[in-house]
Amino acid sequence: MKFSWRVALLWTLPLLVVGFFLWQGAFSSAPADMGRNAANTRLTYGRFLDYLDAGRVTAVDLYDGGRTAIVEAVDPDLDNRVMRWRVDLPGSSPDLVSRLRDANISLDSHPPRSDGALVGALGNLLFPILLIGGLFFLFRRSNGSMGGPGQAMNFGKSKARFMMEAKTGMMFDDVAGIDEAKEELEEVVTFLKKPERFTAIGARIPKGVLLVGPPGTGKTLLAKAIAGEAGVPFFSISGSEFVEMFVGVGASRVRDLFKKAKENAPCIIFIDEIDAVGRQRGAGIGGGNDEREQTLNQLLTEMDGFEGNTGIIIIAATNRADVLDSALLRPGRFDRQVMVDPPDIKGRVEILGVHARNKKLAEDISLETIARRTPGFTGADLANLLNEAAILTARRRKDAITMGEIDDAVDRVIAGMEGTPLVDSKSKRLIAYHEIGHAIVGTLVKDHDPVQKVTLIPRGQAQGLTWFTPSEEQMLISRSQLLARITGALGGRAAEDIIFGDAEVTTGAGNDLQQVSGMARQMVTRFGMSDLGPLSLESSQGEVFLGRDWLSRSEYSEEVSAGIDGQVKLIVDKCYEDAKRLMRDNRALIDRLVDLLVERETIDGDELRRIVSEYTLVPDKQQYVPQL
Ligand code: ADP
Ligand code: MG
Ligand code: ZN
Repeated sequence: MKFSWRVALLWTLPLLVVGFFLWQGAFSSAPADMGRNAANTRLTYGRFLDYLDAGRVTAVDLYDGGRTAIVEAVDPDLDNRVMRWRVDLPGSSPDLVSRLRDANISLDSHPPRSDGALVGALGNLLFPILLIGGLFFLFRRSNGSMGGPGQAMNFGKSKARFMMEAKTGMMFDDVAGIDEAKEELEEVVTFLKKPERFTAIGARIPKGVLLVGPPGTGKTLLAKAIAGEAGVPFFSISGSEFVEMFVGVGASRVRDLFKKAKENAPCIIFIDEIDAVGRQRGAGIGGGNDEREQTLNQLLTEMDGFEGNTGIIIIAATNRADVLDSALLRPGRFDRQVMVDPPDIKGRVEILGVHARNKKLAEDISLETIARRTPGFTGADLANLLNEAAILTARRRKDAITMGEIDDAVDRVIAGMEGTPLVDSKSKRLIAYHEIGHAIVGTLVKDHDPVQKVTLIPRGQAQGLTWFTPSEEQMLISRSQLLARITGALGGRAAEDIIFGDAEVTTGAGNDLQQVSGMARQMVTRFGMSDLGPLSLESSQGEVFLGRDWLSRSEYSEEVSAGIDGQVKLIVDKCYEDAKRLMRDNRALIDRLVDLLVERETIDGDELRRIVSEYTLVPDKQQYVPQL
């Protein structure tokens, strides 16, 4: 068990302060102890003399060297009840005492208590003594040679900040669907276990391996699996842990880490999220971050500082290789880059297999079907999907996950939580027209992905949704497919416009329009699909990395810029006209589908296509070929 002195002191100090005040209160408030005679009501000296004359006084107790008295007197008006008063006397008066004695009144005198004052003084001293003692203790613990658990003054040292021989419980078996990356890292394990095999023929073992890929593809998982498989010490630290608020700490962490690693070679160092320290130096408007740059410099120095073949291999992971400092990426440092891409359909089946191991699945579940429904999902998405399905199954009190739960979970992972449907109203009908607009264009335009279902059940931000069956991992998308998508995305707004009129269109199309502009612009500037010809006018679509791209972006002339805008507008206008024409030409079909949708809230794709086929004569129901 660990006992932290720092915590203990933190708790006892406030208690001592409170105790001090209570204590002070107990000993220093009353100048003298009035004992049982304490009386609250005061009597003036004159009245006291009157009472004395009237023979009502029965007893007098003197305090404070005769300056205060507690007087007992009877009240003839109240059945001679005995009352007590406090009287302030004008100094010690010998004649008063003799008068009292003459009148035969019981008289007593109490000396002032001196022990109370003594304890009070001690009480006053106790607090500073404890405080100083406590501070002394704190300093001693933190600087102490015994290296105790106290770390109060120990900011710089990175004791136990990185894990050695992490027991992650992960093995290569738990990683699926990213075979190339896995093979590469399995080789790393061989480097460490049998280095002679490589050094014998003069091969230099790589120093660093950089895993690059979008979030959730399994980079951290791979590193954990290596830790499980390699059987060598494994130091793991995350980039953000290098960057901390105390100046100089990041760099000293790096130094510490490499020192430890050299003592423990052969071993693996894993730096997760390396972009937190490894960003391009000198970047950022208004100057860089000195602290981070020092950390990075230290990292570069350390990586140069050990010879190859010493048995230290550095593995780092990032999803932003584009922002990394070029010095990190040169050979001799991270000389291997391993791409960890989102899995293809085969990979998704394998990943689902890994995560289905510990789940109860019903007979009807086919992992292939799930994989087909989830293009673009990463390993983390798939793990999340199966978990959501399991939660839904438990909530529905079933024994095993069925396809129903999987479908609901997919919808939920893609589009967010389900909300409560609107009651029938004008806005519900408007949303219905909007969605049917998308669905009609999606069904009637050639080369559009088929409609999977249309629903009016809100999810996440959306009030209604039209789902399309995504086409499997198309690496290449044709120009007519892009035009079909743009037309489809405009279908919602087109329906609002045609049915309700120009003045009634809503903000509901905001998202659609954003997509439309993005696609149209890329057609012109990146894919050379406009009258401007096959030109690439923008280097990449990624966000601008401030400080590197911002000032040095390749600029084209204003003429070309105006040309781009003109072409984008041409494409969007043409597609919008197509969409509106489809709405006008199919008004009866649209009205019928909207009625059905408002009534049922969901229409699935097959039924939609059946109804559409009753109204159109074209054999494959794809009458419109978008053209410019
Ligand atoms: P990254 O570090 O690339 O952002 P993680 O390695 O943290 O992603 O992945 C998060 C989780 O997703 C993992 O713990 C695992 O459950 C699941 N996962 C991701 N990729 C895979 C994969 N290839 N095989 C199996 N599970 C995966
Ligand atoms: Mg990660
Ligand atoms: Zn829409």
